[in-house]
This record gives sequence, C-alpha cells and structure tokens, in this order.
Amino acid sequence: MADRYQLIIIGAGPGGYVAAIRASQLGMRVALVEKRERLGGTCLNIGCIPSKALLDSSELFARIQKSGDLHGVVCRDVSLDLKAMMKRKTQVVSRLTSGVSFLMKANRVDVFRGAGRLNGPGEVRVTDQDGNETVLRAEKIILATGSTDQELPFLPFDGKTVVSSKEALSFDRVPEELIVVGAGAIGLELGSVWSRLGSKVTVVEIMPSILPGWDRQIGKTLQRELGKQGVDFLLETKVTGVEIINGNAVLTAADKSGKEIELPGEKVLVAVGRKPNLEGSGIETIDVKYLEDKKHLVVDERYQTRTPGVYAVGDLITGPMLAHKAGEEGIAAVEMMAGKAGHVNYNIIPGIVYTWPEAASIGSTEEELREKGVRYIKGYFPFSGNSRALAMDEPAGFVKILSDKKSDRVLGAHILGPWASDLISEVTAVMEFRGSAEDLARMVHPHPTLSEAVREAALGVDGRMIHSPNK
Ligand code: FAD
Repeated sequence: MADRYQLIIIGAGPGGYVAAIRASQLGMRVALVEKRERLGGTCLNIGCIPSKALLDSSELFARIQKSGDLHGVVCRDVSLDLKAMMKRKTQVVSRLTSGVSFLMKANRVDVFRGAGRLNGPGEVRVTDQDGNETVLRAEKIILATGSTDQELPFLPFDGKTVVSSKEALSFDRVPEELIVVGAGAIGLELGSVWSRLGSKVTVVEIMPSILPGWDRQIGKTLQRELGKQGVDFLLETKVTGVEIINGNAVLTAADKSGKEIELPGEKVLVAVGRKPNLEGSGIETIDVKYLEDKKHLVVDERYQTRTPGVYAVGDLITGPMLAHKAGEEGIAAVEMMAGKAGHVNYNIIPGIVYTWPEAASIGSTEEELREKGVRYIKGYFPFSGNSRALAMDEPAGFVKILSDKKSDRVLGAHILGPWASDLISEVTAVMEFRGSAEDLARMVHPHPTLSEAVREAALGVDGRMIHSPNK
C-alpha cells in the first residue's frame, strides 16, 4: 500500500525544506524525501553554512595577526589549530541541520530518508540505504534536488589534488599552494579562507575581471583588496589541463597572448559553477523541457514543469543559484498551489560575496543600464568617509546607488565594504517599495553606523553628500 500525501517534495535543501514548512502551514499533508544523512541540502551541509563558518574563523585568525597590535590588543604567538576550526564548523552545521529536523517535526512534515525516484506523475519511490523501498503518492510533487559542482573535462575532480568546494571545506592541513580555478563567489570565498590560514593562493580566471557579471568597480576594488591580503590573480587565462606528479598538481594554462604557462600547486580547487542535479531522480518517467543548456528545467510561472502536478524550484531551474532564491521559490510554488498569490521578484535578488571586505549587489549594474540605454544617476560614497568604518579600521570599499535619471527610482546598489551583506537589505526594502534615492536619503540613520554610508551615497545621487566632496 502506498502512503498518500497532498504534496511530496524530493530534496531537503533551502528550496525543499522551506516549501515543506510553508505547505504544512497552509494545511497540506507533506512528505519530504532526502537521501543525505542530514537535512538542509547543499547550503547547510557543504555550502553556505560551512563556508561562512570557516570564513568567520579564518577572518578572526587573520584579524588578530593583522590588526591586534593596532587596537592595542597584544597577542603573541598566535597559532592555528585547524582541527579545532574544522570541529567548530562541523558543530555549526550540525546545530543548523538538527534545527531543520526539529522544524519538520514541529510542522508535522513526514521525512523519508532515502533516494527519491519519480515513477511517472503522482508517484515517488524512496529507497533507503538498506535497499528498502517505500512508495509514496500525491497529486503534487516538487523536485528540489539542487545542484552539484561543475567539472571541467580537462580538469576532472580526483577528490584529493583536484577538488571541488566540498573537499576544500575540509582539508586536513593547510595546503602550501592552492590554485583556484574560477573567480566567482565560491572560488573567492574559499580562496580567502585558505589564504588567511597560510596557503599561497592563485586565482585563475578566463574573463578579464573577477566576479564576472558584477559591477566592474566592485570586481576591480575587491581584486586590489584581496591582492593586498596576498591572493594572486591570473586573469584572461585559460586552464588547459593538469598533470599530477607525486600527488601534487602542475596546471597548464594559456595566457591572453596564447603563451603556455605552468602553475605548480599542492591543491587545485575547481570553482567554475554548479549544474542542476537530476541524477537518479526518475526525470525520464515524466515529460519535461530543458533550457538551452540542456541542464536546467523549464517551469511555468507556477513552477510547474511540462507534466501537470510536477513542479521544480531552486538550483534546478533558471536564475541565480542561491539559497534565498530557492527558498522564495519554494514558498511561492506552494502558495500558488493553495490558491494564494505567490511571487518572487527576480529583479531584486541580492547577491553576496563573503570575502573581507564583503561585496553585495542588488538590481542593475551600471554596465547593464548603459547597455539597455537607461539614463541613470550614480551616488558614490567611500567607506573612508564613514566614521564607524574608520573606528573599525575598515576604510576600504564604497557604496554605489544607481537611480533613474527622471523618476529617481532606485535601480541598483553595489556595496563593497564591512558587513555589506547586511547593509544591502536596506536598499532591497526601498527597491521592493519602488522607492527613490531621495527616500533613502531622507531616512534618519543612526550615528555612527556603516549604514550612514548608504544614506550618503543616496544623498550623492542629488549631489548633496555631507561627509565627502560632491564631485
Ligand atoms: P540543494 O541545497 O542542493 O538541496 C538539494 C537536496 O536534494 C540535497 O540535500 C540532495 O541530497 C537532495 N537530493 C538530490 N537528489 C535526491 C534524490 N533523488 N532523492 C532525495 N534527495 C535528493 N547560496 C547562498 O545563497 N549564499 C551562500 O553564501 C552560498 N554559499 C555557497 C557556498 C558553497 C561552497 C556552495 C557549494 C554553494 C553555496 N551557495 C550559497 C549556493 C546554495 O547552496 C544553493 O543555491 C542552494 O543550496 C540551492 O538550494 P536547493 O534547495 O535548490 O538545492
């Protein structure tokens, strides 16, 4: 006998588990299927959370060494206990993943441990690790099976020397040299972690700037700041292959003139993106359409695939591969199933790089606006003019606000600086309410705070900054 549900969700990442909670709140009987030991998906187990735990620990280590004396905090013989650092990371992951299990119980979501496989519309077969099979049936099924690291054919992962982000979150010693292929968020964050802990890090990127697709000034300034921290960059450089000699790598690449270069390194982290994961999901038993990349699933505005009753959210479908985007889609999908007005505003999804300084971006970049012929005004305020940033000894970076020349509506914001990840939310709120730079500028901001830099940049749109010359 099959168990009957109103909704079955395959995959307990931020797309799946968030959808499960919301569906339960809306009165649905929900089954959540997960093959990993712990709930929370890539994000909580091998993504957002462990990377941030290591970023915070390594930042503390670097900061004590770099600025302890300056603050009058004298720490002699500061040393690294990598095992303890990794243990803390595991504890953070464990606490959060257990929290998700607790939430499932609290919301009466039935969790099935094992690999879920579609068997046509309406049926999912779950095989647990002992090979036992459970058959589940529901009118509606959400696929939320996420993504896996993208491999390069000439640079295959071996899990030891040429690794993905998963292994780079758990090295058991600090590599002498770490070559990072790809200057996106994951490459820069993990490159920062190991550079702070003592690795000689070289980032190789095929594009002419780091963080391709981001505001160019953010990319340039962040590259300069990471360079000061000891990270080397080889831009416009195309990796062509790797040779493993005695467990170490010799990477071959071609520079912009086509000249071949060789880069020796103890470890190579390949961070060139992620691909949707449908392996073993039984996707072939239903009718679906793929995007041109033949990897992402096409869904309609209700997140339904071409097969009625089968939906997909998160990294499986188009858009930025981000946890908060996946979660919002999970909520919107089940709200629409329940007859509510679910909605995700794809123009206003913040993107963050948790290096130090942090980079945060929302809405359009200057480059995009110019390309579209949109007339805009820019307000720009450097953190070197912000009292709190100076009190923290963190003058690097800036806030940039872009607003429509005619209406003053905020079109985008790009922040590089301390806690940019939190500062961006103020602009997000204003953009959601279709607010103007003037709205931001007229809000009272507490003093002394980093948020005053956001206000100053908004004032700068109208040429009336207080703590910087209006040039
Ligand atoms: P996932 O989180 O990938 O979850 C899918 C789940 O489905 C997994 O648990 C998987 O085991 C399960 N599954 C797959 N197939 C089956 C099956 N057949 N049966 C049962 N279960 C199955 N995003 C951010 O927003 N902020 C960050 O700071 C950030 N940092 C990151 C750092 C790293 C190193 C990485 C790798 C990613 C990071 N991301 C970050 C991206 C983020 O993790 C993903 O965008 C997010 O997890 C996608 O959520 P999802 O629910 O679509 O899929």
